[in-house]
Amino acid sequence: MPELPEVEITARRLDAALRGATIESTLAPGLNALKTFDPPLHALDGTQIAGVRRIGKHLVVDVSGDLHVLIHLMSAGRLQLYDKRASLRDRTSRLLIRVDGDRELRLREFGTKQAAWVKVLRDGDLEADEAIATLGPEAWPDPPEDLAALLHAPRPLHTLLRDQRVIAGIGRSWVDEILWRAKLSPFKRGDDLSDEEAGALRAAIVETLAAALAHYEDVVQLPIPDKLPLPLLVHRHQGEPCPRCGTTLEAVFYEDYVMSYCPAEQTGGKVLKDRRLSRLLK
Ligand SMILES: [Zn+2]
Repeated sequence: MPELPEVEITARRLDAALRGATIESTLAPGLNALKTFDPPLHALDGTQIAGVRRIGKHLVVDVSGDLHVLIHLMSAGRLQLYDKRASLRDRTSRLLIRVDGDRELRLREFGTKQAAWVKVLRDGDLEADEAIATLGPEAWPDPPEDLAALLHAPRPLHTLLRDQRVIAGIGRSWVDEILWRAKLSPFKRGDDLSDEEAGALRAAIVETLAAALAHYEDVVQLPIPDKLPLPLLVHRHQGEPCPRCGTTLEAVFYEDYVMSYCPAEQTGGKVLKDRRLSRLLK
């Protein structure tokens, strides 16, 4: 699940390797991945890569001629740079960008779903694109000082923090780590945050994401591994002792994800209802 730290390290590594490189040719074996047709994908052929950057959980490859390749990895995509060209039999390939030096920038996607997408956009159309225009402020490095105002809504923090229109970059993995670090219940409502709690939450967002990135700076190299080594302490660690207080971590299971937390420090000792179990008992 690439979230802000995973996308940021990908952008940093690719930017360092690809800035100034020439795109020789492009190919989209994953027909469904490319969501735009004008300008065509081949408009990229012969252009130079000006840089690779991150916006929210998206990657942007800027090229000469004022074109931008906007990529969303969704839950199982990776953008990887290889020294060799892919076998066309690689069923994970969604987009291949061949660059000088025989290298290949490859959007690959694992699993059965084809959800990762790519758009080729002109200047101006990038900022106006629905995926970008609707994003809230970046969660890192400098989220809004007044987090209480940003999150002032009658919705649980666990939902609010993952809503990209509210704040951009956080998903199912890092939200658990952030709320644990801030010692806040995932079900606490955004409009029920004291100034002190909002301050702790803001600090937790910055510290958690910065620590993940620092870890990736040490361990993540090109081509960008298929499986990123997420340094998670709480998410999916239910049943294990809380790394801070030793209480057994609990979890609520949803259809396609899990929310993990420390009952002693986050929910006043209460073990929250397991949605999966309660559905079975109905
Ligand atoms: Zn604890």
